[in-house]
Amino acid sequence: MSLVLYNDLTREREEFIPVRGGCVSFYSCGPTVYDYFHIGNARPFIVFDVLRRYLEHVGYKVTFVQNFTDIDDKMINRANSEGITVAQLAERFIEEYYRDADALGIRRATAAPRATEHMPEIIGMIEKIMSKGHAYQVKTPSRDGDVYFDVRSYAPYGKLSKQSIDELNAGARVEVGEVKRDPLDFALWKAEKPGEPSWDSPWGKGRPGWHIECSAMSSKYLGETIDIHSGGVDLTFPHHENEVAQSEAATGKPFVKYWLHNGFLLIDKEKMSKSLGNFMTVRAAREKYPPLAIRLFMLSAHYRSPINFAPEGLEQAMGGVTRLRNCWSDLLHARDNRVGEGDITSFIEELKRLDARFYEAMDDDFNTAAAVGVLFEIVKLVNTWLKQERLPAGFFQAAEDELRQLDDILGVIGIEKSDDSEADEVERLIEERDAARKARDFAFSDKIRDDLLARGIVLEDTPQGTKWKRKLA
Ligand code: AMP
Ligand code: ZN
Repeated sequence: MSLVLYNDLTREREEFIPVRGGCVSFYSCGPTVYDYFHIGNARPFIVFDVLRRYLEHVGYKVTFVQNFTDIDDKMINRANSEGITVAQLAERFIEEYYRDADALGIRRATAAPRATEHMPEIIGMIEKIMSKGHAYQVKTPSRDGDVYFDVRSYAPYGKLSKQSIDELNAGARVEVGEVKRDPLDFALWKAEKPGEPSWDSPWGKGRPGWHIECSAMSSKYLGETIDIHSGGVDLTFPHHENEVAQSEAATGKPFVKYWLHNGFLLIDKEKMSKSLGNFMTVRAAREKYPPLAIRLFMLSAHYRSPINFAPEGLEQAMGGVTRLRNCWSDLLHARDNRVGEGDITSFIEELKRLDARFYEAMDDDFNTAAAVGVLFEIVKLVNTWLKQERLPAGFFQAAEDELRQLDDILGVIGIEKSDDSEADEVERLIEERDAARKARDFAFSDKIRDDLLARGIVLEDTPQGTKWKRKLA
């Protein structure tokens, strides 16, 4: 079977076929770094981390981009209230983002671009959109630097959120001071206001609108047409609708093949959000619940269903993590003390059956809820066999390999973080290889790589350093 994803663009389940063979381009909208992120924001970061891990696990080369929005009204207001610059505020909360995200086991993106570091790309894209007649500059005596996207000039507008321009118009509102041809038109560039950071542009000093940064950075790092773009369901309109319009108006090519949106994390039946004040930051949640439990909690639901953030759910997840970790440590302990003889044919058969069910679940629109269920069945199976006094080495090898493999995808047992002697050894060999390469001892560095390959471990050199993974059978 192959991976099927629910595509919000077509509202259909579709087989996942990347645009460029074995390489996957994946853009996920990242946080606005004006504060700590909350547990609702953590949902897309965790679930799409699992999709990315899964794609890598099954052998795709994934370029995963997640941006930082480091200039907007919220950034400006918060920086002003703290008496620091917007850049200082961004620096601080990007660092805080990584502290929480790393703790949650969210693998770092291949690239994590910031809007303020991409002004030439953003301006270039706006110019392209204008040159094709899809944007206009507002010139009034009071404001002459705003540039708007001309929604009426772009017929497919509304194709992602599945609404016509007229339907969407009914809900549109115009902010004070905005001079637009149509209430749905949205800012690509905003003329400078006193006291705000600004950049030079062909339309005078100003700053970009929010939506354009994702279009510009996506095309810079991933190309004009990408495979997957993801975010929370609240981003479908207007953010992602506007991204589609901007990118396709600029390039004339399809922007994204598969649009994926996660459901809301709710608290007392309402969306958790900063503006409603009903949020808990990940930083605060981590004081109450271990990160693995937060991860397991998120993955115990299908990513498109709403989930309710309640203490009972988190406590249940804590119990689940304890069961997983106990199984893993019992297994390691028994391997060191209780190797003997025995027939494990039926164990291997059952394990294979469960393993196939795990991958079936993941292939089914990465149904982590079902996959987590299978993981617990595997743990139950292993625990049952562990009751035997002696077990053959093959039992330990198979059980360990299985749990290690599944945790590479879900990251809920915490295997890669601790007690992973193999990972430690591979990391050490990678360091040795780096040292050998620096010393231009290529015979030795190649030998290390080849020896690892013979053990089924593939090294891949990336701009972020050398990565390793287990070769697929
Ligand atoms: P923001 O920083 O507000 O742009 O949000 C970052 C990401 O979190 C976006 O993908 C949002 O759609 C997502 N998000 C925000 N609130 C929630 C929530 N309560 N549940 C799930 N996702 C959310
Ligand atoms: Zn975005």
